[in-house]
Amino acid sequence: MTTIAVYDTTLRDGTQSEGISLSVEDKLKVARLLDELGVDYIEGGWPGSNPKDEAFFQRAKDMVFQHARVTAFGMTCRAGGDPAEDANIGALLDAETPVVTVVGKTSMLHVKEVIRTTPEENLRMIRESVAYLKAQGKEVVYDAEHFFDGWRDDRDYALDCLRAAVAAGAENVTLCDTNGSSLPPQVAEATAAVFDALGDRAEVGIHTHNDSECAVANSLAAVEAGARLVQGTINGYGERTGNANLVSILPALQLKMGYDCVPADRLRRLTETSHFVDELCNLTPDPDRPYVGRNAFAHKGGMHVAGVKADARTFEHIEPGLVGNSRDVLISELSGRGSVVSRAESAGIDLDADAAKRAVETLKEREHRGYHYEAAGASFELLLRRETGEYEPLFRLEGFRVITEKRADGRVETEATIKIWVDGHRYVRTAEGNGPVNALDRALREAITELHPHLAEIELVNYKVRIMDTHHGTGAVTRVLLDSSDGQDRWGSIGVSENIIEASWEALVDSLEYAFQPRNAPGGARQPADDAPAPVGKP
Ligand SMILES: [Zn+2]
Repeated sequence: MTTIAVYDTTLRDGTQSEGISLSVEDKLKVARLLDELGVDYIEGGWPGSNPKDEAFFQRAKDMVFQHARVTAFGMTCRAGGDPAEDANIGALLDAETPVVTVVGKTSMLHVKEVIRTTPEENLRMIRESVAYLKAQGKEVVYDAEHFFDGWRDDRDYALDCLRAAVAAGAENVTLCDTNGSSLPPQVAEATAAVFDALGDRAEVGIHTHNDSECAVANSLAAVEAGARLVQGTINGYGERTGNANLVSILPALQLKMGYDCVPADRLRRLTETSHFVDELCNLTPDPDRPYVGRNAFAHKGGMHVAGVKADARTFEHIEPGLVGNSRDVLISELSGRGSVVSRAESAGIDLDADAAKRAVETLKEREHRGYHYEAAGASFELLLRRETGEYEPLFRLEGFRVITEKRADGRVETEATIKIWVDGHRYVRTAEGNGPVNALDRALREAITELHPHLAEIELVNYKVRIMDTHHGTGAVTRVLLDSSDGQDRWGSIGVSENIIEASWEALVDSLEYAFQPRNAPGGARQPADDAPAPVGKP
């Protein structure tokens, strides 16, 4: 079977997407998920461009990846410049990644109009930049920017650019449809010609954008024409209309075209990975997304349902389980119970058959109301513990009140008062905060930490709010995702309500109650701070 290298650029090109902003922690989590999915390359960012990407590479150095290699992205040296003295190339080396990807001009139009230099000087910039990085021991991918436009404009020059990169030692030249203008026949023709021209001196890669809605089709066409590395992003994130969507490309190549991309058991993580990355980006997973959407295999029409029951192949293009999706919109009794039981086991929770059944029911009902536990492992585990019947809550709430006051001078002040019972004692505490959630958090901590001082060390490290239009006719609800840390471990909790304070309160209480639980076995929601929380399989 022919192997296709999978090159993910979610963390670089994908974050160019309008409305996506990932913290360094989030980027590390995505990198962990991509490694677990089995991708070959993770492009972590552009170290010369911003401090956040530099911080990512600093942290990624200490992470152990099972399979993936991290790559840093940057440009060739400037016209008239020396790569050894180029600050951006220096930043690429400082990232200390095994692989470096350099992008360079390939189209005569861009050489003349954008960087305003001579065709020969551009070839020198490519050659010397690649050679310099090779001399530093890097594996080098050359991204040929605007390749297909350049090919249509002046194919000899476009090929000269690729040859310059290959002659200097680049292992891979990736043909980029940077503005997404190309259509599958054009991509196929140009890729085949490049493949012929380069022979086996370098691998050919493909990087497409979706402006003509052909990014996935173009990637597949390029592979058929000889490309052996595919670049793309999870869920097709990217600027304008997006990049090539790896979530659609992987099953197409692997299940339909017979190429080898990731191990089959990893492909089963595709749905979970797609949803989890959406959660980290604070986006609602698109229910209509091919392969992984909740509607991708949902059958409504009576005839279809009967057909699927008779033989699934009649109405389904693939077996949903191969990509980790399922036919049912909500958790099926069977798969739901399986994931509940295995999760309970790994967290050391004794869940009998009745309790497991109740947990599945609760889970179903909650998913229906907008809870998603992919990024909220702590809340999921507490849900299981509460079903055991032996769960002791940390405290009992008598009531709370939050007051926000805006003054004439523009100042806004918030104060929360809380009344709770802990171990038979009543505590009434008031605290101020920079917002209602912060004030509530402080008041609650003040009340609790008298008996449980170690809870003072818990820090809320990430707070994400999403207004969700539920598809169940109940109107909009607010969902809050909270990440907490005690300096060593991190965990995620969730709250859902029509009221943002109530949703925040719920996530906050789960966060503290979880911290109060006995230290969990490996595989529990509690993970070292560097790691992603263990994904709760979308049941
Ligand atoms: Zn791009």
